[in-house]
This record gives sequence, C-alpha cells and structure tokens, in this order.
Amino acid sequence: MKMLKNLFNEKCPICREVLISKKTSAFDAIVIKSCPQNHYQKEFHPAIETSIESYR
Ligand SMILES: [Zn+2]
Repeated sequence: MKMLKNLFNEKCPICREVLISKKTSAFDAIVIKSCPQNHYQKEFHPAIETSIESYR
C-alpha cells in the first residue's frame, strides 16, 4: 500500500515539493498537477492516455 501511494505523490523535479492537483471545471477529463512554486506542471489526459509535462 505504501508503494502504491508513492506513485501518486509525484514531486517537482526541481524543488522536490509534492505536486498539487487541480480540478478544472471546464475540462473535467484533464487532471493538472503542478509544483507549489510553479516550476513544473503535468497534465493528464485520460481520454487520449497522454500526459504532458512542462517546465516554467
Ligand atoms: Zn518546484
């Protein structure tokens, strides 16, 4: 169980803060996780089974 939980606790590759999940009302199918310091953002698109990573 602990290992499984770690998979969902993704961290910023720059400052190692745990990424924060955002819910967007306009795009419910998309999950956005971002660094609290805005270094890094990851978008999950379950419909097309793709994730997009971006650095700021
Ligand atoms: Zn960061």
